[in-house]
Amino acid sequence: MKTFHIVGAGIAGASIAYHLLKLNQHVIIYDREDNGQATNASAGIICPWTSQRRNKKWYRLVKEGAKYYPDFIEELEKLTNQSTGFRQNGALCLFKDDHIQALAYERIKGKQIDAPEMGQVLKLSSEELLGYHPSLTTDFPAVFVEGGAQVDGASLLSALKQAIIKLGGEWVKDTINPHTLDGQIIYTAGAWSHEYASHPEVRHQRAELLEVALAEDLQPTVSPVVMGLGPMYIVPTSARHYMIGTTHEDTTSFDIQESETARDYLFTQVKRYLKATSLTKGRSSIGLRPLTDHNLPYIGPSGELFVVNGLGSSGLTAAPVIGREVAYFLTGHSTVLDLTDYHSTPS
Ligand SMILES: Cc1cc2nc3c(=O)[nH]c(=O)nc-3n(C[C@H](O)[C@H](O)[C@H](O)COP(=O)(O)OP(=O)(O)OC[C@H]3O[C@@H](n4cnc5c(N)ncnc54)[C@H](O)[C@@H]3O)c2cc1C
Repeated sequence: MKTFHIVGAGIAGASIAYHLLKLNQHVIIYDREDNGQATNASAGIICPWTSQRRNKKWYRLVKEGAKYYPDFIEELEKLTNQSTGFRQNGALCLFKDDHIQALAYERIKGKQIDAPEMGQVLKLSSEELLGYHPSLTTDFPAVFVEGGAQVDGASLLSALKQAIIKLGGEWVKDTINPHTLDGQIIYTAGAWSHEYASHPEVRHQRAELLEVALAEDLQPTVSPVVMGLGPMYIVPTSARHYMIGTTHEDTTSFDIQESETARDYLFTQVKRYLKATSLTKGRSSIGLRPLTDHNLPYIGPSGELFVVNGLGSSGLTAAPVIGREVAYFLTGHSTVLDLTDYHSTPS
């Protein structure tokens, strides 16, 4: 039997390994656990339907990803008896004023026909919002999307690692030159891809998240994820703790030291949305977000390698379905998505 060697075990590599093993393939996955691994740092919002991005290939991928998530998680958690932090408590998108909210509501609601998994879509006044999230200020009207979810990147990866071993795969902690391996080689190296593949060209952004705690237990239940104005979001990690994201810093550096400037920026931003006067700063979580041309994931051949990379800001959303589709493709099964979309010109 042919061996599939997978170099890089972030969510991209681990998901492909898991799905290949489910198809009874022989798999060895290698990872050197770089500081800055994107999956480990990630906030894990799964809510593609509210994005204003117009790229159809990207939307098909993330929409299919969100649809697959509940089944994927149920099976993985059952197999491993390990939590991935997946919760489908809905998502609140905040808007500057009622006019923008009304336009956004029509745009988001219009996606329901093709994506019934997004559940109910509701227009909420800033006062109605408090019924969903009592700690928010009443400055912004919102749209609530019932199917919005979150997952914890580090817990998801840990569950996948356990599943891979349980299904008979080998997980090797090592740094590997993929060109020294025999068999089918899948290269999923995230921001470090340039070391062994010149195509596709992968650049990266440093992304910092800040944890904040509410001083008092204002909110006994875990709230939906919140998407503020611009790229700002608030992800609950417990009833009193939130991860606030995120920065998008284009860089060639692999340094992931905490930045006081980033922390201050995120702390200032969150105070626009959370009404608690006594918020405190906690830890930072920093990752290197891999990106390719046109911000569209690359899934396809590169010389003798098969490369999956450039998952960008929506990698946790897309990776499970990418794993399923790549495993089908490489074992000669038919796929739901047309993978040639992800190694040709985007539209
Ligand atoms: C702060 C932050 C917040 C995010 N929030 C969200 C979100 O809310 N929703 C969402 O959908 N997505 C989100 N993302 C995006 C998502 O996390 C990434 O797109 C995804 O994790 C990328 O996964 P990857 O497997 O390609 O790369 P990585 O997770 O970076 O993994 C690459 C791995 O390859 C290993 N490696 C590299 N070279 C070698 C080698 N030669 N030998 C062995 N191992 C090697 C590295 O050590 C690393 O472990 C976020 C990302 C960040 C950073």
